[in-house]
Amino acid sequence: MSSDQNKQPLITKTLIKCMSCDYTLERDFQEGDFVPKIVGTCPKDGGKLYIAGIYAVKIAEPKR
Ligand SMILES: [Zn+2]
Repeated sequence: MSSDQNKQPLITKTLIKCMSCDYTLERDFQEGDFVPKIVGTCPKDGGKLYIAGIYAVKIAEPKR
Protein backbone atom coordinates (compact mmCIF):
# COMPACT_ATOMS: atom_id res chain seq x y z
CA MET A 1 0.00 0.00 0.00
CA SER A 2 1.81 3.02 -1.14
CA SER A 3 0.15 6.39 -1.46
CA ASP A 4 2.66 7.95 -3.79
CA GLN A 5 1.35 5.97 -6.74
CA ASN A 6 -1.28 8.52 -7.65
CA LYS A 7 1.20 11.34 -7.74
CA GLN A 8 1.59 11.66 -11.46
CA PRO A 9 4.41 14.06 -12.16
CA LEU A 10 3.18 16.60 -14.65
CA ILE A 11 4.93 19.43 -16.36
CA THR A 12 3.17 22.24 -18.14
CA LYS A 13 4.29 23.07 -21.65
CA THR A 14 3.58 26.07 -23.78
CA LEU A 15 3.21 25.73 -27.54
CA ILE A 16 4.28 28.76 -29.52
CA LYS A 17 3.51 29.33 -33.18
CA CYS A 18 4.37 31.89 -35.82
CA MET A 19 1.53 33.84 -37.40
CA SER A 20 3.02 33.88 -40.86
CA CYS A 21 4.87 30.60 -41.31
CA ASP A 22 4.81 27.09 -39.89
CA TYR A 23 7.45 27.68 -37.27
CA THR A 24 6.51 26.18 -33.91
CA LEU A 25 8.27 26.02 -30.61
CA GLU A 26 7.54 24.19 -27.39
CA ARG A 27 8.91 25.35 -24.10
CA ASP A 28 8.19 25.07 -20.42
CA PHE A 29 5.22 27.06 -19.20
CA GLN A 30 6.16 30.36 -17.65
CA GLU A 31 4.21 32.51 -15.23
CA GLY A 32 1.91 34.83 -17.17
CA ASP A 33 1.57 32.66 -20.26
CA PHE A 34 -1.87 32.60 -21.87
CA VAL A 35 -3.50 31.99 -25.27
CA PRO A 36 -2.99 33.91 -27.57
CA LYS A 37 -0.28 36.03 -25.99
CA ILE A 38 2.33 37.52 -28.30
CA VAL A 39 5.70 36.36 -27.08
CA GLY A 40 8.23 37.51 -29.62
CA THR A 41 9.27 37.37 -33.22
CA CYS A 42 9.94 34.43 -35.45
CA PRO A 43 13.61 33.64 -36.12
CA LYS A 44 12.73 32.48 -39.62
CA ASP A 45 10.73 35.33 -41.09
CA GLY A 46 10.29 37.93 -38.36
CA GLY A 47 6.57 37.23 -37.97
CA LYS A 48 4.82 37.47 -34.65
CA LEU A 49 5.03 34.50 -32.34
CA TYR A 50 1.98 33.75 -30.24
CA ILE A 51 1.01 31.15 -27.68
CA ALA A 52 -1.19 28.61 -29.44
CA GLY A 53 -1.70 26.22 -26.59
CA ILE A 54 -0.85 25.33 -23.03
CA TYR A 55 -0.99 21.77 -21.85
CA ALA A 56 0.29 19.40 -19.23
CA VAL A 57 2.34 16.36 -20.10
CA LYS A 58 3.34 13.44 -17.98
CA ILE A 59 6.96 12.99 -17.20
CA ALA A 60 8.14 9.56 -18.21
CA GLU A 61 9.45 8.29 -14.95
CA PRO A 62 12.34 5.90 -15.07
CA LYS A 63 11.67 2.88 -12.92
CA ARG A 64 14.20 3.21 -10.19
ZN1 LIG B 1 7.68 32.66 -39.01
